[in-house]
Amino acid sequence: MRRIQRLPLSDTAAQYLEDRQTHANAQREQGTLDIEARWKDARQTDKISAPHHSIFSTLRQMAGPAQRCMYCSDSLGSDIEHFWPKTPYPEQAFHWPNLLLCCARCGRLKGDRFPLDANGHPLLINPSREDPWCHLDLDPEVGTLLPKAIGDGASAAALKGQETVRLFQLTAEAVQDGHRRTFRHLQRCVADFLAAPDTLDHFWQNLQDQDVRGLLPWCWGDIGRTLAPFSELHQNHPEVWAEVSNRLNSAL
Ligand SMILES: [Zn+2]
Repeated sequence: MRRIQRLPLSDTAAQYLEDRQTHANAQREQGTLDIEARWKDARQTDKISAPHHSIFSTLRQMAGPAQRCMYCSDSLGSDIEHFWPKTPYPEQAFHWPNLLLCCARCGRLKGDRFPLDANGHPLLINPSREDPWCHLDLDPEVGTLLPKAIGDGASAAALKGQETVRLFQLTAEAVQDGHRRTFRHLQRCVADFLAAPDTLDHFWQNLQDQDVRGLLPWCWGDIGRTLAPFSELHQNHPEVWAEVSNRLNSAL
């Protein structure tokens, strides 16, 4: 799962969402709100769907060069997704920070499902608000995404990882294969750099191009850095390692 940096909307698109939300809130107070219909109606307008400067195009830009689903990072992101589902939470239906991009499979798996903890906080990872790798771990050999094991496994971070993996079925074989492939591509990228060191900008660009599934922060983390060839880069090129770390952190 990639960490997503939320981009600002164009002024007209932002205003459009705000107006739609105000209208939905008023209808809700009158008891006449059909949020599915209101969203469907809005979804067809160019403020949401146009190929440029629209809400959809901004979400695609946020998803990275491969425009993958923001939950599974596996399939193409094809739908606008409401993190807080719009039917139970219509007050967030047109709220920009609530909109993500997802694939048809993840959209179907999630539907109106939205597990909350005892304090009413979401138990799913929102990749535009938090670093998914605070909640997830990777088995690079198999490509499995796992809930991060912290303490007794009952911590909020572990629970969130657990619910996210469960709901989006991130242990599915296709998802695993993809993650394993991306991990190997990143290994190759680092091995190529070690064999023939390139400029840092080129190296960074290659890493970005290969990291379709957002695994780089994990590779640069506590476990990743102990595995070859990342461990070799960490030991033999500490300045390159540190610069990539800086760039990863500044992308948050
Ligand atoms: Zn997906």
